[in-house]
Amino acid sequence: MTETKLREEICLFGRSLFERGLTPGSSGNISVRLEDGGWLVTPTNASLGFLDPARLSRLDAQGHLLAGDRPTKEIPLHAAVYETRGPARAIVHLHSTHSVAVSMLPEIDPRAVLPPMTPYYLMRAGQTALVPYYRPGDPAVADAIRGLGGRYSSVLLANHGPVVAGESLEGAVFAAEELEETAKLYLLLRGLNPRYLSPAQVADLTAVFGLTLPEPDAGHAGCDGPACNHPDHHHHG
Ligand SMILES: [Zn+2]
Repeated sequence: MTETKLREEICLFGRSLFERGLTPGSSGNISVRLEDGGWLVTPTNASLGFLDPARLSRLDAQGHLLAGDRPTKEIPLHAAVYETRGPARAIVHLHSTHSVAVSMLPEIDPRAVLPPMTPYYLMRAGQTALVPYYRPGDPAVADAIRGLGGRYSSVLLANHGPVVAGESLEGAVFAAEELEETAKLYLLLRGLNPRYLSPAQVADLTAVFGLTLPEPDAGHAGCDGPACNHPDHHHHG
């Protein structure tokens, strides 16, 4: 896809997400990785509903601004995802209400924020990891993302919002939407003792659709003590 087409796509999807209330005000940001290793990123303080294709931030592979407005301050977040998750070509970050709400619930498993509720959640968003709260712009959030080792295509920042990677912008947007709708379902059903997908049903989806869901107990190897911030090592549920 040409850079011109990608610029238009970022603005179209941004507007669609904004108009459906998936990220309010000037919150949220989108990035797409280009063939030359550089990126297109939404500018800082820009509403996703009113993006101008010509003013998107164009960065080189080292993250220097080549053209356009100043990029979002959440660049380190995007960089950490691209660094650890090879196939990722696009990232969508939203402040979507239901996902943010779920991030604050006490029972949340940081290795699987949402239970396997629907096939499309698993097929599009996979399994979602929870990253603890960090002040916006705190570079430590990038370290927390690196600590996940690229095993998750979707990550939820506590009290903040989801960060979802895809092999295309459309894939990342659809996955972010699926995550938000699943968070909404979770809240609708919370306390009602719903029937989630069984382990056998999840195994069937995994086999038939070739899903690569993170293993519940993977990632323990290589932990070198208390400095490790791998969420697997801090879950005692
Ligand atoms: Zn944000």
